[in-house]
Amino acid sequence: MATQTWSEKAATLHYSTQAFINGQLTDAISGQTFDCFNPATGEQLGSIARCDQADVDLAVKVARQQFESRVWSGLEPAKRKQQLLKFAALVEQNVEKLALLDTLDAGKPIADTLSYDAPATARCIAWNAEAIDKLYDEVAPTTSNALALVTREAVGVVAAIVPWNFPSVMAAWKFAAALAAGNSIIVKPSEKSPLSAIYLAELAFEAGIPAGVFQVLPGFGHEAGQALALHMDVDCITFTGSTAVGKKLVSFAGESNLKRTFMECGGKSPHVIFSDVKDLDAAVNTAAAAICYNQGEVCTAGSRLLVQREIYDQVVEKLVPAIGAWQPANPLLESTKVGAIIDQQQLDKILGYIDIAKKEGANLLCGGQQVQLGSGGFFVQPTVFTDVTADMTIFKEEIFGPVLAVTVFDTVEQGIELANDTEYGLAAGIWTSDISKAIQCSRALRAGTVFVNNWDGGDMTMPFGGYKQSGNGRDKSLHAIEKYTEMKSTWIELN
Ligand code: NAD
Repeated sequence: MATQTWSEKAATLHYSTQAFINGQLTDAISGQTFDCFNPATGEQLGSIARCDQADVDLAVKVARQQFESRVWSGLEPAKRKQQLLKFAALVEQNVEKLALLDTLDAGKPIADTLSYDAPATARCIAWNAEAIDKLYDEVAPTTSNALALVTREAVGVVAAIVPWNFPSVMAAWKFAAALAAGNSIIVKPSEKSPLSAIYLAELAFEAGIPAGVFQVLPGFGHEAGQALALHMDVDCITFTGSTAVGKKLVSFAGESNLKRTFMECGGKSPHVIFSDVKDLDAAVNTAAAAICYNQGEVCTAGSRLLVQREIYDQVVEKLVPAIGAWQPANPLLESTKVGAIIDQQQLDKILGYIDIAKKEGANLLCGGQQVQLGSGGFFVQPTVFTDVTADMTIFKEEIFGPVLAVTVFDTVEQGIELANDTEYGLAAGIWTSDISKAIQCSRALRAGTVFVNNWDGGDMTMPFGGYKQSGNGRDKSLHAIEKYTEMKSTWIELN
């Protein structure tokens, strides 16, 4: 029998569209729904439960009860680990379905969701599970007539509000670490990509994570999201999304119960190629991938390419074919490297920035057009502007699409100054064959992650997050688990 194509598999895929509260799929209390669409075709994928304040109140109440019952938080570390490893194994067994859900819902190429998003979600859960029974608390080196303990306890009810660009992975970075620490977690996926989070909650429950410990509330930011952020009984809000919304959430925390806030926000990451780069082809191909991967809808997209003057012309010449290798196509074909933009609004935003760049005098090197017009979906050519200066809008603002701004510089100092000339500080990259320059520049760059002679390197062992208005807190690594805990000092006086 011929193997099914991904389109055929998608056509028979079953998935849930309800909220997951207290171990059950359930409609929103109001009975309201919202439509969710496939960005590659414009077709409706389902009517999704539209959760609001009432559902938030219910889910938080259940999460609190379960936290206090200690059914999860009180489980000995080795047992919590066992449950989470079961969950990871179930995700692993179902990577195809998870990958398909993120491809259908977010327009991501199936090749990417199969090779990265779905397996990375399973790995993230397993990595956090493995850590649980290897974390020790502290005994303070204090006076001899006391025993002073510094211990970590779960913070309580954690709400995770996540975006649409990596729907499973962004959620997993948060829920896996929060669950490892013993919290009850409520995930509010983006209204543009809710399907995989709902499925992950089903798998978690099937794996034996107790009812009410992992809940999912699909809905809009200004309804379910805002209700979570303002709730008096949510202890921590962990967010990935835009800086504008991140700022609102921090103020909601201040207006309510001073809940802990961890914000992973936007970026305008500089990618610097110095003239002493060892492999210029590798640098240029990586620069193309850094802006084209996931349609440029990546918080760490290398959206500003800063090139030293001696090699500027060469880089510009090589960029045209390098970018040309990334053309948008049907995300369900395994050969596709660039999928669909998430929706009409985001497409309009990208096309709007392309217009602004032209008006401000940047030189359109390639791309710039909407394509695949008959598909019903939202596709745009990867686009490169050269002669971009630091005062131009496309140098400053996050576009969240495949639009690269190329700028020339002369000295190393100028390169670093331009790289740091941004309100963001998520990632930065440098290409050089001089180790001292690499180290000095990486020290000088104000960014949470610096890539040297690569872009987007890293794994679960490395913290991920931003400086400046790219946010605070870190996802991944043991540092992420720590942020879902409170620190307790216990002073025991000895007789
Ligand atoms: P967004 O800020 O519009 O939405 C993110 C989430 O916040 C969604 O679930 C949304 O429903 C919710 N939300 C919106 N308004 C809200 C409100 N008033 N109250 C509570 N919740 C609200 O971002 P997006 O468009 O989904 O994602 C793109 C942004 O995410 C980009 O800026 C990108 O850089 C950023 N991002 C950052 C990282 C990182 O790790 N730093 C990773 C991925 C994406």
